Amino acid sequence: MRLCSTLLLTLLFTLNCYAIESEQWITDVHYLASDDLEGRRTGTVGAERARAYIEQRFAQLTLTPLKGLESFRQTFSEPGRRKNLVHGINVVSAYSHADAPYILVTAHYDHLGRKGRRIFNGADDNASGVSAMLELALRTTKNSMQCNVMFLATDAEEHGLLGAKAFANTGVLESYRLFANLNLDMLSQPGGRHDLLVSGVRSHPAFEDLTSQIETDTSLPMINTDAGYRVGRYPVKGDRTKVSDHAVFAERGIPFLFLGVGRHNYYHTPRDTASRINEGFYGRVVDASWRFLKGLDGLCGKELQANHTD
Ligand SMILES: [Zn+2]
Repeated sequence: MRLCSTLLLTLLFTLNCYAIESEQWITDVHYLASDDLEGRRTGTVGAERARAYIEQRFAQLTLTPLKGLESFRQTFSEPGRRKNLVHGINVVSAYSHADAPYILVTAHYDHLGRKGRRIFNGADDNASGVSAMLELALRTTKNSMQCNVMFLATDAEEHGLLGAKAFANTGVLESYRLFANLNLDMLSQPGGRHDLLVSGVRSHPAFEDLTSQIETDTSLPMINTDAGYRVGRYPVKGDRTKVSDHAVFAERGIPFLFLGVGRHNYYHTPRDTASRINEGFYGRVVDASWRFLKGLDGLCGKELQANHTD
């Protein structure tokens, strides 16, 4: 009898779980990390499918292409690590509503592709960052923002940050006032630590307060990697300033915040799949990412007011 009631409870619980509609970012991450996209390697059909999906989400949110681009796509050719020319395509959109600077949210959509029959799905790296970025885009359109926001899904990050470099070289940084870059790369694997690594805290005087406020509000432990802390059994080498796309913008003097969980056991292996994502942890990180974007918007607005009273 007890077994029966336990079974019944389990069944009811399971049905209840299925009744809850899953969040959009969960749907997005499962699609972007699916076998159909074959690991989204630059130049492959899988990468094209990822782009089509991101474009369609940008269009749904009524975001617009950037000045000088006819669509959400920016094609480029940049020399790779072996000096070979890599051809890639960034997908970028803007939410422009005010005469104000832009916050640039970035997340790379490319990954390692497949080796023979093994697919490197790159669920955490970086379908998780792109899906979080799409969620931030959705929330941006539904909230009142003081500044404008640009959403850039970069290609060929795995080849040496090439999409970000190409984007920075187009002159966009000159024609748009950029306040800061928020880069999202690997957000869904808690590893053994269940904390979030935050880099770039020292790139702007107010970022330290913003980060500790969000840590308090979310109770999500955050580790500032700028000082090169060792984190558990995963050493953080240096300050992670150069490990992802934010490096390109940091080099050009743009303040940045980089959110990511750091290396873990599934990193760059075929085991980085959507089924291994920790949805509870990922949800908390998506929430924190939104708070970072809102916080940056607040700081950007303050700078605006300061400029106007000059
Ligand atoms: Zn990555």
